[in-house]
Amino acid sequence: MQKLKEKILNEGEVLSDKVLKVDSFLNHQVDPAFTMELGRELAGRFTGTGITKILTVEASGIAVALTTGLALGVPVVFAKKNKAATQAPHSYSSNIFSFTKQEAVDIYVNKKFISREDRVLIVDDFLAQGEALRGMVNIINQAGATLVGVGIVIEKVFQGGGQALREKGIRIESLAPIASLAGGRVRFID
Ligand code: 5GP
Repeated sequence: MQKLKEKILNEGEVLSDKVLKVDSFLNHQVDPAFTMELGRELAGRFTGTGITKILTVEASGIAVALTTGLALGVPVVFAKKNKAATQAPHSYSSNIFSFTKQEAVDIYVNKKFISREDRVLIVDDFLAQGEALRGMVNIINQAGATLVGVGIVIEKVFQGGGQALREKGIRIESLAPIASLAGGRVRFID
């Protein structure tokens, strides 16, 4: 998505070879009109796939998940994060390693919000090593629901998470695939 790529180039800060900061429109301040455009674009890529629910994980995925849900006319569920493993009987949970926090966290979703009849689209802000996605896929499997695909705003392709999940047959659409952040420069894959 060209406008997103331009925004990343103009407003993004490369903090290291692995971390991109996009605080001005995605991860701290949120640009509502632009987030609406992101949601419409993601929704458009999954037209006709019978999605009944969006799943994301708190916190930064929620804004774009919401606008995607608005565009598709379906509810949005966000997995909650918890440090200590409290496997409540009424929740599906999964343990993931958080890229930003560099620690293990449990994510969980109340069983009443995903059922086996659901056709789920996962939406998230970033895809790096794929841990957050792996956790959400695990929760969808526990619920017996169908995973339709994954919509990502920024994929750091060089970190390999997307490739591993695509090899499992999961459809992933990313609006800004990044080949490298080396040397403080963002290079996109066309
Ligand atoms: P993964 O689980 O795929 O390794 O990492 C995905 C999660 O880590 C995303 O939900 C996102 O919140 C966070 N993340 C990963 N890489 C970056 C990054 O370069 N910048 C920011 N702001 N967040 C990131």
